[in-house]
Amino acid sequence: MIDLRSDTVTRPTAEMRAAMAAAEVGDDVYREDPTVNRLEERAAEIAGKEAGLFVPTGVMGNTIALKLHTEHGHEIICDARSHILNYELSMMAWFAGCVARAIPTSDGLLDWAAVKAEVRPLGPHAAPTGLVEVENTHNFGGGTIYPQAQLDEICSGAHGMGLPVHMDGARVFHAVAATGMPLKQIVTNVDTVMFCLSKGLGAPVGSMLVGPQKLIDKGRLYRKRLGGGMRQAGILAAAGLIALEKMPARLSEDHANARWMAETLAAMPGIVVDPAKIATNILIFDVAGTGLDAGEFAKRMEAMEVRMIAFGPRFIRIVTHYDAPKNSCEIAVEKIQEMLKRA
Ligand SMILES: *Cc1c(COP(=O)(O)O)cnc(C)c1O
Repeated sequence: MIDLRSDTVTRPTAEMRAAMAAAEVGDDVYREDPTVNRLEERAAEIAGKEAGLFVPTGVMGNTIALKLHTEHGHEIICDARSHILNYELSMMAWFAGCVARAIPTSDGLLDWAAVKAEVRPLGPHAAPTGLVEVENTHNFGGGTIYPQAQLDEICSGAHGMGLPVHMDGARVFHAVAATGMPLKQIVTNVDTVMFCLSKGLGAPVGSMLVGPQKLIDKGRLYRKRLGGGMRQAGILAAAGLIALEKMPARLSEDHANARWMAETLAAMPGIVVDPAKIATNILIFDVAGTGLDAGEFAKRMEAMEVRMIAFGPRFIRIVTHYDAPKNSCEIAVEKIQEMLKRA
């Protein structure tokens, strides 16, 4: 089976498994797990932030961040297809008591003019804005990357109006790989960043939330409330350290594979995708012209042992990752061609 549904399907490397077996551990709720402590320090250092918090999932990292920055009754500005709005079971409402002020975009990326137009002050009718959220890279925008000036302008504009900025950087290391810019520089103006160790970076479990010491200290209490106070979590952090230190260097391979697949698919009748727009490891293409509904397309590919995800009736998403190297991508493309011929 070639699984291109998501980079979450990557399994830990042999090196990660060995490090997990050998990990020095303690009780992390007492902050006595040396491996978790090292991971939190390294994550903060690499991101250029004061402190880090190891969380079991990206959703928990985002949930804690939204809660840290807001009060109940605030609005959170985000783009309309953001993960926090569409794929996190309304945790911004459930835990932080906030509603989303969603801005439609073509590629998932906000700009300051659009954000500024939606900032609301406290008044007799409107709820005030509490936070601006950006997603980089943008998942459902097709792995798109914020142009740095556009992101920095959002941050300075928001800060100028007293608003913090949180980055859902689940795949921010893909932006690092694609732009060659260090993480520190990309996130320099955002207040907090969440990134996943468990996606393209290959760790079995875990995400990081990084930001100012005071916020992260408070975030540790929210993590406990949400059931994320893990004990000998150094077993997981040991894999996370390898994910953080070694895996970013190979992500451009995934980007090249995604671009290559887009170029090959674009030449097939009925498939519409612009290879020039493939910025990272996510490839979303339109299959309406094949005469197949996207769900049916994915189902037929599944029967041919290639997995992908249908978004609505016309779009398919493919995510490249290290458990699907170039030759797997080649086989996947051949099988798509074969399936289309039969159809
Ligand atoms: C995967 C993802 C998350 C977090 O997902 P978890 O499954 O909870 O780790 C958050 N934001 C984006 C953009 C994602 O793609």
